[in-house]
Amino acid sequence: MYPKTIEQISDQVITITWDDDSKQIFFADTTRKACPCATCKDEKDEAGNNKNPFKVLKMTPQNIYFTKWEMVGRYAIRFVFSDRHDSGIYTYDYLREIGEKAE
Ligand SMILES: [Zn+2]
Repeated sequence: MYPKTIEQISDQVITITWDDDSKQIFFADTTRKACPCATCKDEKDEAGNNKNPFKVLKMTPQNIYFTKWEMVGRYAIRFVFSDRHDSGIYTYDYLREIGEKAE
C-alpha cells in the first residue's frame, strides 16, 4: 500500500489517501504519542504498557503540531513535531495501523 496523496490540512492534521482510495486522518498529538523510534518505545516499555501506542507520555507537551514531514525512501514518512522530535520513521504499514478512518 502506498500513499497516493499526502495533504497537510492544518498544522495539527495530515490526511493520507492510499492507492486503494481509502483515506486516513492523522492528528499531531496522537501521531506524536505513537512515535515508533527507539527512545519513545523505551519510554513506553518503562511505563509498563508497551501494548498501547497511544499511552500518554510524560514528555509529550499538549497542543503539539507538525513542523514538517518528508518521505523516507518508498516505505515510510518522517514527521517532525513542534517539540523538535524528528527521529520517528513511520512506515506505511504502521501508519495504516494508527491512522483514523476519514469519511
Ligand atoms: Zn520518538
